[in-house]
Amino acid sequence: MIQFIGDSYRKINGHIAQLAKECGRDPDEVTLIAVTKSFPLEHVLPAYDIGCREFGENKVQEALKKIQKAPEDINWHLIGTLQKNKVNKVVGKFSLIHSVDSLELAEKIDVCSEEAGVETKILLQVNTSGEDTKHGLTVRQWRNRFERILSLKNISVEGLMTIAPFTSDSEIVRGCFRKLRNFRDELQDTYGDRANVHHLSMGMTNDYPIAIEEGATILRIGSAIFGERYRSTSEDNKS
Ligand SMILES: *Cc1c(COP(=O)(O)O)cnc(C)c1O
Repeated sequence: MIQFIGDSYRKINGHIAQLAKECGRDPDEVTLIAVTKSFPLEHVLPAYDIGCREFGENKVQEALKKIQKAPEDINWHLIGTLQKNKVNKVVGKFSLIHSVDSLELAEKIDVCSEEAGVETKILLQVNTSGEDTKHGLTVRQWRNRFERILSLKNISVEGLMTIAPFTSDSEIVRGCFRKLRNFRDELQDTYGDRANVHHLSMGMTNDYPIAIEEGATILRIGSAIFGERYRSTSEDNKS
């Protein structure tokens, strides 16, 4: 029943490489994260077996259980909403936290990282669509807080993340992705070597081709690889 997973992973990876080339990008600039939320570890392993090492989860509890049992050379990405009272559980466990949606959360991650003696890599989640249901701060809010973010010594901001609206109107989606890229470029221009903001985590099953065209460096793809989830968790990103 899960034999198809290796094949779909390979197919999506091939498609990503092809799309990247078509728009003049180096396929190596684009990393595919296999989003395994709601799927048991047995579904993760076929993707691992054919070479996938980047996996994404959106719920802390579920993720920690899988991480415990999974091969150790997997890079785990936390892509769902993180509550401050769970920060101490995730520090040191994830290669990258994509979903930092407030200054206070970044500060908490900084404190817990210092206590644990680690540096935590994060992305700032930007609400590019203006939808109330989406987490993250607006470009303007992050712009005003960025100096403070840079002063936190135990986190490293590697880039930005966004979730586009679920719509068939590709121009709306493209507008969100472009906004994220422009903001990244602005931060690079403004802060130069003081900041290490390069990643754009954007693009899911429904919109990854647009994300590649707009400069995504990280794609978060679940259902196109693993099939329909048992229950939809895409609208419910609570960790
Ligand atoms: C579930 C999820 C994804 C993957 O969604 P698919 O549509 O299954 O590809 C990507 N990003 C986030 C934040 C998610 O919660």
